[in-house]
Amino acid sequence: MEQLDILKVQGKLHEAKAEPWVALLEGIQDELTLDGHFDARTLDEAGHLLSAHEHKRAKVIAGGTDLLRLIKRQSLPVPPEVLVNIKSVPGLSGVREENGVLKIGALARLSDIESSELVRARCAILADTAARIASPQVRNMATIAGSICQDVHCWYYRATKNYFNCARKGGTDCPAVKGDNRWMFSIFETQDCDCHAACQSDMAVALYALGASVKTTQRTIPIEQFFSTTAPGHVLKQDEVITEIQLPALESGDRAKYLKFSVRNAIDHPLVSAGYVARGGKVRLALGGVHILPYSLNEAAELVDGKAMTGELAQKAGDAAVAKASPMSMNAWKVQVARTLVKRALLSTA
Ligand SMILES: Cc1cc2nc3c(=O)[nH]c(=O)nc-3n(C[C@H](O)[C@H](O)[C@H](O)COP(=O)(O)OP(=O)(O)OC[C@H]3O[C@@H](n4cnc5c(N)ncnc54)[C@H](O)[C@@H]3O)c2cc1C
Ligand code: SF4
Repeated sequence: MEQLDILKVQGKLHEAKAEPWVALLEGIQDELTLDGHFDARTLDEAGHLLSAHEHKRAKVIAGGTDLLRLIKRQSLPVPPEVLVNIKSVPGLSGVREENGVLKIGALARLSDIESSELVRARCAILADTAARIASPQVRNMATIAGSICQDVHCWYYRATKNYFNCARKGGTDCPAVKGDNRWMFSIFETQDCDCHAACQSDMAVALYALGASVKTTQRTIPIEQFFSTTAPGHVLKQDEVITEIQLPALESGDRAKYLKFSVRNAIDHPLVSAGYVARGGKVRLALGGVHILPYSLNEAAELVDGKAMTGELAQKAGDAAVAKASPMSMNAWKVQVARTLVKRALLSTA
């Protein structure tokens, strides 16, 4: 269905008319409000198009696996009316290493990362993380930049036809507080917003633990400063495009692990995940699926920094990781899973 949507949005539906599934789309097609789809030829052009069509909430489209789902389901109160395709900009998909820094083009697909010999050799945790995301079909379309920019997967937020105009959309309250908050919700409080959705991007958490940076057409943003508690979940400006993800490659003796807990093994977002990187003896730890941002575990990391790993120390770090947890009415189970994932990640490479 996702491939089908891309054909439709790009105005090529007529080419596929003979296919039996096209009939399924007829109703939806009439309701789409897309006004324009532009193939940018350069990054400058992409920036100009995004800026010129700000009043139509123009958005970058990469693989389209997240954005088109939101548009198709009419989940957003005011959807983008203009899409700016950047796959037509050359040079944005390669993976290379320069002076010990891995540079991954924004359009590198998750399948490219999963199969890249360079990534496997210099940062295997990233290839392993990519391999655990979604399905081969999705990984063949989804890009690394889209992966860290994907919107929240709260079922109230994503309900069709903007059924719940919740706090994240500018409404007054969050239906998840009194509603069903078992799965994709936070267990840590957020000071400055009423949204309890959790960040469920596997890549975001792995890149967080790796201490990556996000290079854009305007600046280079350390990953800790990239995410935002308010929609759309990141700090990019309207006309800003991600061009590259940069991260220091791992050296021999460095250790790294990404662990993901989900209900199914395939095609499932993480309900809780943990990323662990020990580089030159310095530890970085982060959790996913438990907070609106990737949740940085500085205190747990300090606890294990420079020490030989033991079961007892890993247990203490796991306890420290969830010490400030304040779960919602139905998701206290996540506290124990988060504690266990941290402990297992630390012990896995000991
Ligand atoms: C069936 C299914 C299962 C999934 N399972 C998982 C999972 O297990 N784990 C997980 O982490 N994710 C999962 N996902 C989400 C998936 O990883 C994302 O949909 C995908 O990575 C988004 O990438 P994209 O290139 O398709 O982005 P798009 O859909 O094209 O864009 C998504 C967002 O990113 C913005 N964007 C994209 N590229 C840029 C750029 N270069 N600069 C600025 N903004 C940009 C777009 O404007 C948009 O807001 C799943 C998705 C599906 C459909
Ligand atoms: S958790 Fe956030 S996205 Fe979900 S309903 Fe509440 S405010 Fe909306």
